[in-house]
Amino acid sequence: MLPAGLPSLSPLRAIQELSMNDLIARRERALGPGMRLFYEQPFEPVDARGVWITDVDGKRYLDAYNNVPHVGHAHPRVVAAVQARMASVNTNTRYLDPHVLDYAEALKATMPAELDTVMLTCSGTEANDLAWRLACAHTGGSGAIATSYAYHGNSTMVSALDVVSTPSGKNEGWVATVDAPIDRSAEDGDSEAGSATFDKGMAAAIETLTANKRPPAAFYFDPLFASDGVRLPAKGAMEAGLERLRKQGGLVVSDEVQPGFGRLGEAMWGFEAVGVMPDIVTMGKATGNGYPLGVVVTRREIVQSFRNKGRYFNTFGGSPAASAAGAAVLDVLSSEGLQANARAVGADLKAALIQLGQRHRLITDVRGTGFFLGVELAHRRGGEKVPATAEARRAINLLWELGVLVGLTGPGLNVLKVRPPMVFGKDDAAILLDRFDQAMGRV
Ligand code: PMP
Repeated sequence: MLPAGLPSLSPLRAIQELSMNDLIARRERALGPGMRLFYEQPFEPVDARGVWITDVDGKRYLDAYNNVPHVGHAHPRVVAAVQARMASVNTNTRYLDPHVLDYAEALKATMPAELDTVMLTCSGTEANDLAWRLACAHTGGSGAIATSYAYHGNSTMVSALDVVSTPSGKNEGWVATVDAPIDRSAEDGDSEAGSATFDKGMAAAIETLTANKRPPAAFYFDPLFASDGVRLPAKGAMEAGLERLRKQGGLVVSDEVQPGFGRLGEAMWGFEAVGVMPDIVTMGKATGNGYPLGVVVTRREIVQSFRNKGRYFNTFGGSPAASAAGAAVLDVLSSEGLQANARAVGADLKAALIQLGQRHRLITDVRGTGFFLGVELAHRRGGEKVPATAEARRAINLLWELGVLVGLTGPGLNVLKVRPPMVFGKDDAAILLDRFDQAMGRV
């Protein structure tokens, strides 16, 4: 029973009857200042299918931002798979259930053979947190290395890897940072110089941790380096630095929360696109198409080291419904050829965005691959690029007005993040480009 005075739970009708201002006031009272809204004008979606979202006024928006509905909003096969488990038996991974095993086996089949053991969580944060416990148990180390603008999640441990907004990790001396490797499209991105820079950064990070008596347990990286500004390194560019880390006993954790599941088009997993063999792979967001599901995939011996010292149980992680969602995502990805779609449509879209850059001086770079593109906006001052942060914010709000959703990322918050659901087609790309052109003309 709801307390008297609150609307009855027919959410759509109740929400439509209340003005947006009422909703904002209720939100502020109920959720407080910790949970923020996107956009200058709050956005109230009420329905979504494929790549389209409809708001409360019936206006349709092309979604070129959300990566959680990986195979498209409300994909009927994912919905049916979850409904079937919820309507029969949905317990936990301590009971035998073929749906959980079907999923783990299907996921393993997409990975190199060495990565042979699957552990299930509810989110990307939990997967990265569990990876930390595994790495510490296996290596005996207690120091972490992440990139300068990394984001890997929101638990106490994982948020400490983000030394910009959570400086405590660094202050306590157990987190050290390294700059993201140079993007493969940059002049020295593919060269020995780029590789040497990353190696030097890794050497310094290891030295810092060793001096603090926190030998490295793990290096976490997002292979696309999204929060570092979308920088996809050339294959092999990280090799020397990671070899150095391994010699000190540290493990490599590839955070596939953003680049995984074929999004990069050229590879199913981000680590493959950058030519790195990780010890631990973590996943979230796209994994269950909106049903909470995170995953750790690693080598059996690493899990054994952990098991010798501790235990793991996650009440909701990988429940039959969650596993069924995960299996449906893999199934749709392959039956609808979505990785190939990301490769083909993404390549054309990137080329067209580069073309747009000829007309709009603020566009100083277009990076990324497949369905993860970053459009950098900057002012050229002398030989320097100064992030056009205010213009980038204005651009995403203008795009929203024009009915297109994109995001914002990078250290200077000046990189427009184009990261649509994997069912984004050629016609959708044409709409995006037209609106992008209009928005840039008005910025
Ligand atoms: N890793 C990366 C690279 C992410 O982008 C995020 C979420 N933005 C996370 C981990 C954390 O995932 P979650 O919010 O599901 O805990």
